[in-house]
Amino acid sequence: MTDVRRWDVPGRVNLIGEHLDYNGGPVLPMAIDRTVTVKARARDDGTVNVWSDLPGAAKVSFAVTVQPGEVDGWAAYVAGTVWSLADRGHAIPGADLVIESRLPAGAGLSSSAATTCGVASALDDLFSLGLGTDDVALVAQHAEAGYVGAPVGLMDQLAVLHGAAEQAVLIDTAVTPHTTTPVALGWEADGLVLAVIATGAHHALADGEYAARRDECERAAAELGLERLAQAGLDATVMLADETLKARTRHVLTETARVRGAVTAIGRRAWPQLGTILTASHASLRDDFEVSCPELDVAVEAALEAGALGARMTGGGFGGSAIALVPPEKVQALRERVEVRYEQHQWKRPEVFVVHASDGAHRVPDTGARLGG
Ligand code: ADP
Ligand code: MG
Repeated sequence: MTDVRRWDVPGRVNLIGEHLDYNGGPVLPMAIDRTVTVKARARDDGTVNVWSDLPGAAKVSFAVTVQPGEVDGWAAYVAGTVWSLADRGHAIPGADLVIESRLPAGAGLSSSAATTCGVASALDDLFSLGLGTDDVALVAQHAEAGYVGAPVGLMDQLAVLHGAAEQAVLIDTAVTPHTTTPVALGWEADGLVLAVIATGAHHALADGEYAARRDECERAAAELGLERLAQAGLDATVMLADETLKARTRHVLTETARVRGAVTAIGRRAWPQLGTILTASHASLRDDFEVSCPELDVAVEAALEAGALGARMTGGGFGGSAIALVPPEKVQALRERVEVRYEQHQWKRPEVFVVHASDGAHRVPDTGARLGG
């Protein structure tokens, strides 16, 4: 039987701490119970073949020496991971890869990090590359930033690698390497669940605006004589003249405080307080950081109308998903309320589902030897 390594990697939601991972602030994501599965089998002919269950994805093949620009489309994340491994001194002889997913792609739940971390973990395992979890995270980030061209921070990779059942992961991006601390979550025992509202929206300006926000934050930090904006004191917003940079800084400072408040609220099982903090985060992202969009704002409003304790957009913004902390008996009302509001706007029907904090990337014994065609 051929040696097949199977890795399951979850997606993530970020509970709070948005747009802080490139500003040296704290972030609090959790891995969710929807995963991407990567199966890997060795080849020795310098070729990588990859199959995916993404709609319309045909088999893609490329050389292990693949370079940026040579593979685009969905397989760029896979080619990027193989390139990133080689670029960091871990060249592989070749592989067959099969990717199957129960995590919607492009929904802001980080299917990209699940895919890159899954490919890197499976290849590390198969070829005994000796990578640790932190190396896998860096390989995956390098793939997304250096190959696909998305200048992402490290939050998503660390979240999907370090997540655990009933825990969030507090990541301190002020230090290198970033530290990760588990934060026990108790809302389910107290009769609450976390619902995701996948808006289905993805605005074209997302990538450009993400780069623009990073640039604005760097400019604000430079004007304040700081390396990272999250280091700023409360006087920073008074010291900056530019109204836009002032608003961006206000978000970074208040969001940093909200993450600390959220960790305290979770520790005290003060769920209404946590809800208030989540909703305040959304207002800050909408008004000061300006990365929300009508679909996210309406999802949050509808969730609150339906009885959620708090709700906010999660992820980079301009589409993707929102989260809401809500009693399970109100999830159906929430779904109906969001659907009604979306119908009024003639938007596509959003998907609403409950997620549970789950284990990060892990190897699963593969029962079938069949791989690809
Ligand atoms: P998100 O991370 O929010 O889901 P991204 O646009 O960052 O959205 O990443 C989506 C990309 O991740 C897809 O275009 C594809 O390249 C990759 N991906 C996600 N799911 C799969 C899959 N099942 N098979 C192969 N690639 C996938
Ligand atoms: Mg992504």
